[in-house]
Amino acid sequence: MKLTVIGSGDAFGSGGRLQSCYHVSTDGGEFLIDCGATTIMGFNRASRSPDRVGTIFISHLHGDHFAGLVWWLLHALHVTRRSAPLAIVGPEGIKERYTAAAEALFPGTTARSPGFELSWHEFAPQTPLEVNGITATPHTVSHPSGAPSYGIRFEADGKIIGFSGDTEWVDELINIADRADLYITECYAFDAQVPYHMNWQQLSQKLDGVGARRIMLTHMNDAMLAKAGSIEHPRVLIAKDGMEVEI
Ligand SMILES: [Zn+2]
Ligand SMILES: [Zn+2]
Repeated sequence: MKLTVIGSGDAFGSGGRLQSCYHVSTDGGEFLIDCGATTIMGFNRASRSPDRVGTIFISHLHGDHFAGLVWWLLHALHVTRRSAPLAIVGPEGIKERYTAAAEALFPGTTARSPGFELSWHEFAPQTPLEVNGITATPHTVSHPSGAPSYGIRFEADGKIIGFSGDTEWVDELINIADRADLYITECYAFDAQVPYHMNWQQLSQKLDGVGARRIMLTHMNDAMLAKAGSIEHPRVLIAKDGMEVEI
């Protein structure tokens, strides 16, 4: 299994980074974790084909995590003329929030048939959901987004990836990261207290209880990015757009 960071930025593109998106290649196919507004841009930068991705998982309904679906589906319709099926999985109400966003930005587009099999799947809290051979278990986190916000634990190819989504510290994160081969966690700030987000000072004190083999810090603001290079911890990686991790 291989993970490629398409976007490791926050909502504002701090450090010139693209918004949240991680590409995972498994024996059974390719999937995305989050689809921030800049996702198609990231695929073009990497000369990667969006049509090979069979499943997109969305952690929560903030634009830097799901708005890329608007351009993803337009691109499939007009540019690649996609024929492969696509499953989109996310919090309750995801299809309605996508439709509202797409109609605000490109009116009339959601009435058109995508021309391929498109299915929408909603998470239920703490309930494993298997889609295209990937088991995803959403865990409720603390981050208001107009719908439930989740951290997600993925299992495929006998490997485990944990993802915090956006959240302040909640003990549920320990379950998401437990025995994970890679745990991707937001670390928005260095030491500032930002509501509903984490900072490194706080997270570093929790790491002994985080039972993942490797821990990737992501979704960093300018202050965190400025200090990320000085963090030395045997299990910690600092995410960067384009980074590839063998899992
Ligand atoms: Zn975010
Ligand atoms: Zn958010």
